[in-house]
Amino acid sequence: MSKLFKGTITLVGAGPGDPELITLKGLRVLQKAEVILYDSLINPILLDYNHNAEKIFVGKRSGRLKKSQKEINKLLVFFALNGKNVIRLKGGDPMVFGRAYEELGVAKKFDIPTQVVPGISSYAGIAAQHQIPLTQRGKQGSFWVVTGHTEKGGISADLHLAVQSSATVIVLMGMRFLEEIVGVFKEFKPSDYPVAIIENGTTSVEKTLVTNLYSLIKKVNEYQIQNPALLIFGTSCTDAITKYQNTIAKEICLR
Ligand code: SAH
Repeated sequence: MSKLFKGTITLVGAGPGDPELITLKGLRVLQKAEVILYDSLINPILLDYNHNAEKIFVGKRSGRLKKSQKEINKLLVFFALNGKNVIRLKGGDPMVFGRAYEELGVAKKFDIPTQVVPGISSYAGIAAQHQIPLTQRGKQGSFWVVTGHTEKGGISADLHLAVQSSATVIVLMGMRFLEEIVGVFKEFKPSDYPVAIIENGTTSVEKTLVTNLYSLIKKVNEYQIQNPALLIFGTSCTDAITKYQNTIAKEICLR
């Protein structure tokens, strides 16, 4: 196919959920797109910013099966080779657990020009909104962002390393193996070690629970916390506990 007819593929980070947390650049690219392939994690309000594009849902919703990565790659290439400016609108930042390398890789194979517009990752956006510092001078010199389950199933080996550090540990996709994850923390941390779990962070349907290792599972069941949710383990959450004590009317559990 002649180069003249080639479109582009742009991966765009939609931010953590609040539609205002997309970047200005992300919004501009979104408005110019001719085709938008979007996930279930993006706020659908964002799609209203473009009335002309063809919009294709490629996520998982209410039992409908997610399109496989292969199918998504095929769609991206198909539209781009037909001269369209395609965007792949993804929750958070495209480079954080976003299969970005696969999508960029397939574009490269077909010599299709690519661009990545960064987004605010859920861990950063949610922690900031809740005033949970991921680092604190003299206390936490680093933080880990770990997946709660690996491709092969089971929890990530990195989690065992992260837990043994003094860092703040954020776990994405941690709901499926929550009990195992808490078990790993209990091996190395006291039962009153603080943990926050946030469902649908930065959206109008957010649920926030701040508790400790000992009570987490019981409270998650009690408050029916579900995906998408992330966990923040660390003493930084203590400040959030203090903050919530008198201020937030959402689902909050205190120690
Ligand atoms: N690229 C995304 C992460 C994709 S992995 C990012 O940068 O954020 C999907 C996981 O991200 C979910 O299972 C959940 O753990 C987390 N996540 C994404 N958006 C979230 C939200 N609004 N609230 C809570 N967790 C969220």
